[in-house]
Amino acid sequence: MRATRGLVADVIRFSCVDGPGNRFVVFLQGCDFDCLACHNPQTIPAGSRAARMWSVAELVEQVRAAAPYLSGVTVSGGEATRQAGFVRDFFAALREGEQQLTRYIDSNGDAPQTVWDSLIPVLDKAMIDLKALDRDLHIRLTGRPNDRVLDSIRQLAGAGRLYEVRLLLVPNVNDDDSSLEKTAAWLLSVDSRVRVKVIGFRRHGVRAAGRRWAEATPEQIAGWAGKLTAAGIREVEAV
Ligand code: SF4
Repeated sequence: MRATRGLVADVIRFSCVDGPGNRFVVFLQGCDFDCLACHNPQTIPAGSRAARMWSVAELVEQVRAAAPYLSGVTVSGGEATRQAGFVRDFFAALREGEQQLTRYIDSNGDAPQTVWDSLIPVLDKAMIDLKALDRDLHIRLTGRPNDRVLDSIRQLAGAGRLYEVRLLLVPNVNDDDSSLEKTAAWLLSVDSRVRVKVIGFRRHGVRAAGRRWAEATPEQIAGWAGKLTAAGIREVEAV
């Protein structure tokens, strides 16, 4: 087994919200975005006292112990692709030893094509966040432009590796009808069978700058999902 090590913020042995089925989730430390709506801002810095280095072998051992109860493994963050070499080696080891488990990445999509080129051979599917289709709004929400996010969605869809696009919607910030319609049209232009998960903004864990925003109500979340469905997206999940 390879000896690559990665900086891990946390692991969850059983999760039903990080991809399909029951999943072992690895949260890597460090993120290149600085989202105002981030629920885990402690994972943004490149280092943290709570994070520690794990070897691929250690992680695989933990997965193996839980494997009878798992559908798969998801690597999340922070931003998973910032430690792409570690993710690649971890997934390659799982592919060799735990073939029955699916291997997913939960990513902000801000990775160059070469990173996805290296991951696609060992990756089953990716879940990509799209914080805003509008470039300026994306910069306001995350501190970074969305060019690479859009390229990542195109590349993963083209390679058959896009599981879903996740839209975190904040009332009166990125939820207007025009934005929803444009986002739906763009996603459909990339993949006519795209699956979308609508996530309503919650204040839990968010820093002061984001806590001034209103939380999404169940009615708003259902309304956004309905608009995306009306715009032609066939598979919309709302949470
Ligand atoms: S991409 Fe995710 S982990 Fe990174 S700052 Fe944004 S919400 Fe937080």
